[in-house]
Amino acid sequence: MAQSKTETRRAAGIDYTLTRRRVRNINLRVRADGSVAASASPRVPAGVVDAFVAARAAWVLSAQRKMARRARWDAAADAALPTKAEALAQMTALCRAYYPRFAASCPGGAFPRIAVRDMRTRWGSCSLKTGTLAFSRRLCVTPPAAQEYVVVHEFCHFAHPDHSPAFWAAVEAVLPDYRRRQQLLR
Ligand SMILES: [Zn+2]
Repeated sequence: MAQSKTETRRAAGIDYTLTRRRVRNINLRVRADGSVAASASPRVPAGVVDAFVAARAAWVLSAQRKMARRARWDAAADAALPTKAEALAQMTALCRAYYPRFAASCPGGAFPRIAVRDMRTRWGSCSLKTGTLAFSRRLCVTPPAAQEYVVVHEFCHFAHPDHSPAFWAAVEAVLPDYRRRQQLLR
């Protein structure tokens, strides 16, 4: 049983963790938080890994600067967003406006539970099981036409849980220009 072991090392002023794994080469990466991680086979002497890291010091520093810049940008973007309560009020109002068109397909015919989350990879989601429509807080600062599209998209999932032609036909029936609206989210 091979167990991976991690130790903290320093090379050319760079602190990094070295994890022993069954890998063919030496792997080196800079994480989103700027920390540096290397992995290497137990057969490679630690000094060789130190030299490998030292030889890539300029790349590591540049990657760390890039990560720091991205983190600052994310923090600034988040600060410009409405609060969760404001976002929830905004998305609830928008859903109320479209609800009458979808009431028949909502679980129990009831107005769904609306949630706002800090989703980064999706604009919205629909849970048939809990009768919930969830939206990314970031959606609130996109153009209203795009917000309407996401609301309609998620409402349509109550009747069509997939992205089948029938699903897109349902979206198009409510928003004939939905393709143009999708562009606003790219
Ligand atoms: Zn979808």
